[in-house]
Amino acid sequence: MLRNVEVQICALIPMLIICLFSYRKQSIMVKSAWIYRQLLLITTLCIFTDILSVACIMKSSQAVATFVCKLYLWLVIWTGYLSYYYLSSDIPSLRERKNLRQGLNIVNVLLSSAVVFLPLHYHNDKNAIYSHGPAVTYTFIVSAVYILGSLVMTKVFEKQLNPNRKRAIRIWMILESIGAVMQYCERRLLFISYTMMIGIVILYAKLENPDSKLDRETNAYSFRTLRDHVKELYENHQHCAFIIIVEDEVREKDALTGEILMLELTKFLSSISEKRVFRGYGNDFLMTFPNEKAAREALPKIQQRFVKPFAKNYLMDPKIYLIPDISVTSNAAELLAMYNYYSYYGINSESKVIVIDAAALSYMKEYREVQNEIISALAEDRIEVFYQPIYSVKEKKFVSAEALVRMRDSSGDLVFPGTFIPVAEKSGLIEQIGDRVFEKVCKFIRDYNIEKMGLHYIEVNLSVVQCENNSLAERYINIISSYDILPSALNLEITETGQLKQKHILMNNMTELRKAGCSFSLDDFGTGESNLNYIVEMPVDIVKFDRSMILSYFDNDRTKLMMEYVISMIKTMGMKIVAEGVEKEYQLEALSKLGIDYIQGYYFSRPIPKNDFISFILEKNQQ
Ligand code: C2E
Ligand code: MG
Ligand code: MG
Repeated sequence: MLRNVEVQICALIPMLIICLFSYRKQSIMVKSAWIYRQLLLITTLCIFTDILSVACIMKSSQAVATFVCKLYLWLVIWTGYLSYYYLSSDIPSLRERKNLRQGLNIVNVLLSSAVVFLPLHYHNDKNAIYSHGPAVTYTFIVSAVYILGSLVMTKVFEKQLNPNRKRAIRIWMILESIGAVMQYCERRLLFISYTMMIGIVILYAKLENPDSKLDRETNAYSFRTLRDHVKELYENHQHCAFIIIVEDEVREKDALTGEILMLELTKFLSSISEKRVFRGYGNDFLMTFPNEKAAREALPKIQQRFVKPFAKNYLMDPKIYLIPDISVTSNAAELLAMYNYYSYYGINSESKVIVIDAAALSYMKEYREVQNEIISALAEDRIEVFYQPIYSVKEKKFVSAEALVRMRDSSGDLVFPGTFIPVAEKSGLIEQIGDRVFEKVCKFIRDYNIEKMGLHYIEVNLSVVQCENNSLAERYINIISSYDILPSALNLEITETGQLKQKHILMNNMTELRKAGCSFSLDDFGTGESNLNYIVEMPVDIVKFDRSMILSYFDNDRTKLMMEYVISMIKTMGMKIVAEGVEKEYQLEALSKLGIDYIQGYYFSRPIPKNDFISFILEKNQQ
């Protein structure tokens, strides 16, 4: 009958269970998970040889007992080393120093081999069996160095360590120290194995359970695992291609249907060979492939699946992106930022599979630069308003102006709306820009008596994003009253666009602002997106003909006919017309004869800063 090994047997059972769970499940092998598996194996062997050594001391020859006991001590030193190695794999600055690791590996081979040459004695009486002597003392000292070293490292590299991991490692190390001290003081208590086991269980429960790498809902790998994985791919200079599936519509389904569809989609994606499937933001999925060729081979299969319906007869029509290789970006953060950007904003493309390549990366970078520039321009008040005079054919003077936003970059150069308005609209910053411009225009109207200068109102552009905000009317009415100006001094320009999703909000805003006294213009009429219906539906006072239509009027007979017809229709409906982009005298003359009410264009003036505009109006309107 084996004596005093009950504790070790109690420790061995949970270790075997954890081995079963860890090795059965194919898990993503980030470095720490890989070291953990080694640690698990060595610790299990260690506990097993601990039990075996007691049996050998009791039953077998001296030589066999010595061999098994020394094997045990050798394994104890290796668990100490692996615990240090496990910890350092989580510290970025150490992870990169491969030479240091190789050096320590050699040192540990030497340290553990020394056990073979040191003498070992046995204690065997009816109460307890254990080994002791220089080999055992040496093993204790080396292990203590590793344990203390690891504890010190958790302090020194505190900032680089994930706090959860730091805590788990500290508890584990402290437990092992307690076990070692207890066993050293009372040799009969073979306690080390037990505390080793508890440490391994804690790591498993807190950090290394393969299930913790999975997304709860779908069983695909979680987004956190994706981050760890991508980081390692870059650190090891590995190649990898991604296919990204972005399915927005399912997000709008009810929770249960959404969940069923997601499960079905994950199951399908997981069935594609050479892949790993990660859950991204929302209902996105990311699949990794060893190279572009493998990813491209999988693409037709993926696309075909979306031709057929999923559960509940639901057809999914996701956007599919291909990242041919992670070397497109220089690090993990940039790759994830790029995924984030394209998943959120998408890309306007007709192609079925959108390739995210170097061009896409530079597009995103440019977008981010402009976005940051807008944020700082807003903070540092580098948003300016220029005014472009508008001439009345009937009154033969300037009666209004269009307020056009300009941004100064950090070096003081002007940036035009074509560069930053699209970015501001995408990112939502347009609301702040719009408010800023509106306030500045209100201040301008208050500070200068525009009526006295002959100006009836100032036109201010509204973007779709602003129009779809429920609070727009209330906010603008408040701003107008805070500047104590007449709402009729403001005309708001809206544009017809396919981007408008919530027309009823725009209509409510228009109704409220019109009630308050503001008027409206329909901007950019005659561009691709506008149609006659819009003029009929929208309660606008003015229609602004776009420059492209004005140009076309002079060299296309069909446009000419169409414009004549539209002008008469608009006039019959009681609205006024502004022609934009008039640059030449002959244009002015022809358009005036046609019955156009107002002319705006470089012929009279470009958009100019406030003070220049005032001088311009004072001079021209006095003539
Ligand atoms: P828009 O509202 O149609 O403004 C007219 C644009 O035509 C202005 O460009 C103006 O400078 C330009 N333009 C005027 N006359 C001529 C001409 O004779 N020849 C030529 N080639 N161009 C002329 P800008 O200032 O670059 O603004 C471009 C667009 O940016 C505007 O088109 C408007 O859609 C948008 N935008 C400008 N300011 C704001 C703003 O405060 N808020 C919003 N949401 N959008 C704005
Ligand atoms: Mg405009
Ligand atoms: Mg326009």
